Amino acid sequence: MRVAILGQGYVGSIFAIGLERIKRGEIKPYGVPLTNELPIKIEDIEIVASYDVDKNKIGKSVYEVAKNYYDIVPESLKDIKVRKGIHLRSLRNLPIEAEGLDDDLSLEEAINKLVDEWKELKVDVIVNVCTTESFVPFNNKDELIKAIKEDNKERVTATQAYAYAACLYANEVGGACFVNAIPTLIANDPAFLELAKENNLVIFGDDGATGATPLTADVITHLCQRNRYIRYIVQFNIGGNTDFLALTDEERNKSKEYTKSSIVKDILGYEPPHYIKPTGYLEPIGDRKFISMDIEYISFNGAVDELIINGRINDSPALAGLLVDLVRLGKMAIDKKEFGTVYEVNAFYMKNPGPKDKKNIPRIIAYEKLRMWAELKPRWL
Ligand code: NAD
Repeated sequence: MRVAILGQGYVGSIFAIGLERIKRGEIKPYGVPLTNELPIKIEDIEIVASYDVDKNKIGKSVYEVAKNYYDIVPESLKDIKVRKGIHLRSLRNLPIEAEGLDDDLSLEEAINKLVDEWKELKVDVIVNVCTTESFVPFNNKDELIKAIKEDNKERVTATQAYAYAACLYANEVGGACFVNAIPTLIANDPAFLELAKENNLVIFGDDGATGATPLTADVITHLCQRNRYIRYIVQFNIGGNTDFLALTDEERNKSKEYTKSSIVKDILGYEPPHYIKPTGYLEPIGDRKFISMDIEYISFNGAVDELIINGRINDSPALAGLLVDLVRLGKMAIDKKEFGTVYEVNAFYMKNPGPKDKKNIPRIIAYEKLRMWAELKPRWL
């Protein structure tokens, strides 16, 4: 099965490196939830394309780019060249010089160019791990199509343009999958879901659930099941990778805050005061972010308890490991013709699982639902 990466940054690079190392037997597939259980094997995944808009990455091989993130990079990544994507201001305010197809082409032309490239490359699954964007959802298919036809480069974000290109592509080849691992609402935007259903596209999204968010979901589920009343939740992250740098931009941070906070009300059914968001950038911390959680709750007879959890978590490998499953599940969904989105997949892997009217559920339940969808034996039920 053939994969294209959008955004050859930290996550995209660790995904490519880890995948190749698993294939060569150099590392065990820890961090990949459904490792050997799926009918599609990890060895069957082939990265065939990579896109970026950083002038310093375009034209280089994935090998050269990945060397910036990790020392051991398999030679096989020398064969994949980083192509020029669509930028639509996605790197604005960052110390990176951007270049995109949309500099010289209209939106429609740039999108058609991508569709042609994907046809040539015979891509099955497109994985979006670009920089977090500030965005406005479309909600209405006609508005989206109009904005693209009118070349409204202020209204459409890069992720929205890529997802639209994926719809056109899926229509031409009879089926494809778009994995949206970033906060821009795609699986939660009815405009994209309607288009996906009409065009044979599977969408997974939105925003990969990795570090503190799924852990918070499980901890609050534990308290909820015992009818302990939560008085407040504090959860923050400080990291030193470019993604945290991007999140120092207020508008981008809002996108993350929304996807991270949505779990509280969904799981508890009430919304205690909470502060849940990426809080800061500190370069020397690097990719191993510092996470901290403080939850105070009322127990029997009014007793007040408090949980404090601290951790240092490698950010990019956490998401990259999930992507190894998501691309294979994407191919399975195409084969099953489950176009639109698949909540059973999103509920386990995503912070903000689409579609829009579906809620976050405890991850321990989502895991069993996922196994059922993938036709695997229940684990603990
Ligand atoms: P990064 O900054 O290292 O990489 C992002 C890459 O995308 C960069 O190479 C950048 O040049 C490129 N890019 C930006 N705009 C683009 C465009 N329009 N087209 C193509 N490429 C583009 O960030 P990262 O740590 O790899 O994270 C990537 C994304 O994954 C972020 O949006 C983040 O929110 C999301 N995410 C990460 C985690 C995690 O790391 N655990 C969890 C959930 C979601």
